[in-house]
Amino acid sequence: MKFERIYDITLTLGGDAPVYPGDTPYSREVRSSIEDGSRSNVSVLAMSAHSGTHLDAPRHFIAGAKTLDEFPAERFVVPAHVVNVDGGKCVRAEHLDGVAIERGDAVLFRTRNSTSGLIASGVFSENYVYVSPEAAEACVARGVSLVGLDYLTFDDYHVDGAPTHLALLGNDVLILETINLKDVPAGRYTLACLPLKMKGCEASPVRAVLMR
Ligand SMILES: [Zn+2]
Repeated sequence: MKFERIYDITLTLGGDAPVYPGDTPYSREVRSSIEDGSRSNVSVLAMSAHSGTHLDAPRHFIAGAKTLDEFPAERFVVPAHVVNVDGGKCVRAEHLDGVAIERGDAVLFRTRNSTSGLIASGVFSENYVYVSPEAAEACVARGVSLVGLDYLTFDDYHVDGAPTHLALLGNDVLILETINLKDVPAGRYTLACLPLKMKGCEASPVRAVLMR
C-alpha cells in the first residue's frame, strides 16, 4: 500500500521533547567514535520508559496488569481519528460528538498544546489541556482502543490520583503521550506507533506516524 502522506508526530529525544518534572531525562553517551579512532560509533542510552513520545500500558497504574510486550502488534497499527479541541482547559466527552468511531479505532486529540507550540517548546508547563475522566469514559464506551494527547500526561496536573489514566488503562485502552499534532489536519488516518518489545515494561518510547 502506498500512502499519499505520512505525518511524523514524534518529538525528538535529546531535541524538542520536554521532560516530566522528576522523571529521568533522555541522555546519550558516546562509548566509541570513529572521529576518535574507533572502527564504529556506539552510543549508550539512559532514559525513562516515559521519555518523549511514548505509549503507556495498563501496568503503568495498575499492579499486575498487562505490559506492552503482552499486546499483539495489531494494537499499535490502527485506524485513527484526529479530533480538534478548540478552547477550554480540557478535552470533554462532547468532543467525540460527530466522530464516526468504529470499535478498535484510535482517537488523537489536537489541542492548543500542539497549536500554540507548547509541546515542542522544550519547557514543561502545568497549564496544559488535559483529558477529563468523562472524555476517557466516553472513549471506552465507544470502543476506542488507543487514545492520544499532545502532552506528557492525560490527567489534570492539579488533581490527586490519576482518574483519566485509570479510566482508560483499566479498560485495556492504550495511552499515547507527547505527540505533536501542530501540522496535522483533523480527519481519518492510519496510526502506527510501535513500542520496543521489552519484557514486563509499563511504557516505551515510540516513533509515531499518521498515514493517509
Ligand atoms: Zn507515560
